[in-house]
Amino acid sequence: MKVQNLLLVLLPCALILGLRLHERWFCSDLRILFFDVGQGDAALVTLPGGSTLLVDSGGGTRHWNMGKAVLFKELTRKGILRLDAILMTHPDADHARGFLGLAEGHIETRELWYSSAFQNDKRLSDLFLRTQSRGRPFSKITGWNWKGVEFKALPPQVSTPKTNNRSLALGLAYGGCRILFTADIEEDGEKAIAPFLHSPVHVLKVGHHGSKTSTTTHFLNRTRPQLAVISSGKKNRYGHPHSSVLKRLSLFGTDIFRTDFHGFVEITVTKDGRLFCDSFEGKCGKLKCSASEKLALF
Ligand SMILES: [Zn+2]
Repeated sequence: MKVQNLLLVLLPCALILGLRLHERWFCSDLRILFFDVGQGDAALVTLPGGSTLLVDSGGGTRHWNMGKAVLFKELTRKGILRLDAILMTHPDADHARGFLGLAEGHIETRELWYSSAFQNDKRLSDLFLRTQSRGRPFSKITGWNWKGVEFKALPPQVSTPKTNNRSLALGLAYGGCRILFTADIEEDGEKAIAPFLHSPVHVLKVGHHGSKTSTTTHFLNRTRPQLAVISSGKKNRYGHPHSSVLKRLSLFGTDIFRTDFHGFVEITVTKDGRLFCDSFEGKCGKLKCSASEKLALF
């Protein structure tokens, strides 16, 4: 191989390695990247120090898989070949089908976190087999700290066969900023977790792609988000996000960012509570979380 060609191969590898080392040793930010996975959900959480959590994986068809086509490419481009954890909010295909494509691409993970909606689900046992990872089921409200970020798992305590309302919601707090993932929970699920949310949130990943059955006025009264991210496909057949949801969010003065319009959306939170929003379409805002809120989690 000519020296020139060798350099062309080595240079991107060195850049990726440098980026990963920078994250691991020097970066104290929390970053959340909401991927543009069409009609589905997938987000990568990168903790201070570089540990990674993938929340859902997007969907796909029998012939095409979002995990393989989009997530695998994006993760390897960032130099991530091993995740620290994967959170599977519920078994619906638009959230969970991509995991198998990701496993086929040989992305490894240390832990699989999952909700009770996965009980006896074949996809979960397949994924355990392929990834050889540890399991962490969530069936009750649980809080913990990971690399300086406060986590709160919020499985709605509702007895229903509908998996949407048994989705695992997740709250993160860092530098006084609070971010809430609500997967596909609908009104009943929102009612079940609302009593455990004690402070307004700065960023809400809107439930069920902006369906009219989620993001109720009652829930917005509780969460009062300053910024909302809606993950939905361009011209999707469900009509998500519904105009009534957009109206409700606007009435609460929430800035709305949509993956179908803005492409990917990335939130960066610094240790001292500054929050920045970027998207494929450009910058989408910034805010300062109050220092007095630093101890108020969810
Ligand atoms: Zn969904």
